Amino acid sequence: MIDQIGNTPLTKSETLSDQYQCQIYIKEDFHNPGMSSKDRAALYMIRDAEIKNFLKPGYTIIEASSGNTGIGLALLAKELGYKCHIFMSSKGSSEKVNLLNSIGAEVTICQNSNGPKDPASSQARAKSYHERHPHSFFCNQYFNQANIDAHYYMTGPEIWKQSEGKVSHIIAGVGTGGTISGLGRYFKERKKNVNILGVDPEGSILTDYHLKGVVNTSPGKYLIEGIGRHFIPGALDFSVIDQFIQVSDQETVTAAYNFKEMTGYLSGFSSAAVLAALNKLDQQQHFKTTDFVVLFFADHGSRYISKLYNSDWLKKELGYKYINRSELT
Ligand code: PMP
Repeated sequence: MIDQIGNTPLTKSETLSDQYQCQIYIKEDFHNPGMSSKDRAALYMIRDAEIKNFLKPGYTIIEASSGNTGIGLALLAKELGYKCHIFMSSKGSSEKVNLLNSIGAEVTICQNSNGPKDPASSQARAKSYHERHPHSFFCNQYFNQANIDAHYYMTGPEIWKQSEGKVSHIIAGVGTGGTISGLGRYFKERKKNVNILGVDPEGSILTDYHLKGVVNTSPGKYLIEGIGRHFIPGALDFSVIDQFIQVSDQETVTAAYNFKEMTGYLSGFSSAAVLAALNKLDQQQHFKTTDFVVLFFADHGSRYISKLYNSDWLKKELGYKYINRSELT
């Protein structure tokens, strides 16, 4: 499994390139063995902990995860002979919980909360479990430099090579911040005028913090999974991000369905948010024909069949159904 992580395709989308009159490529990171970009962070955090002697044979790997990091860790734990216990927020899709259970990880579902200071949060419960179990290692991806390193040393060079350094824009969802911070650092060191754009759901506090430096203590709720935060992660390097683009649940769902109707492609929830952000960015500043835009797709729609692609769920959560392209009832 370790050798299979990374080297995912960077594929040109002819449909989006025609629509936005520039060159649009999708970094399809669901081609990782655990079917998400988070396999990369999982691998780097485990290797870093082994080198530092925080993780030893027989130990249990502990993590708070919206699901994807947990799946990567659980697979690697099996391969490397560790146990794995994932504390997951109740917001995570049933597909992710089922995968974790199938791989053989222990899963504790935690109340969806406002971050590590809340004792009921997945982060606080993972930390507390680790404190009570000395033979365990808590990855703590929100504050772990190895999470950024995975994208600085691995994903960044891949995209650079695949694009021959031509990239003008990278649009990626921001959860822990590992992806955007690693990619941002790598690209900014090589190309000053590259635009690093973070995608943040309405209701998250990251955009406000980037713009005003204030921590909003009354965040809102949103349905999009894997991105946005109600606290400021230490793995998020704001200095390499040019702009955050905020998108609503409705814009994200619309983007997912438009893309599906145009291409047959089932984008993941955060990937659909990236598509919605692309649309917003184009409205703010039209792309030039020479622009080379990379959309980072962290996972795949198959992980959200019970939610994003389930019309009953959409009706319950958003009050409407998608029947055809852009058609709401
Ligand atoms: N999209 C999905 C589906 C994710 O699971 C995550 C990780 N939570 C992200 C995007 C964001 O990646 P990062 O944590 O590196 O910011």
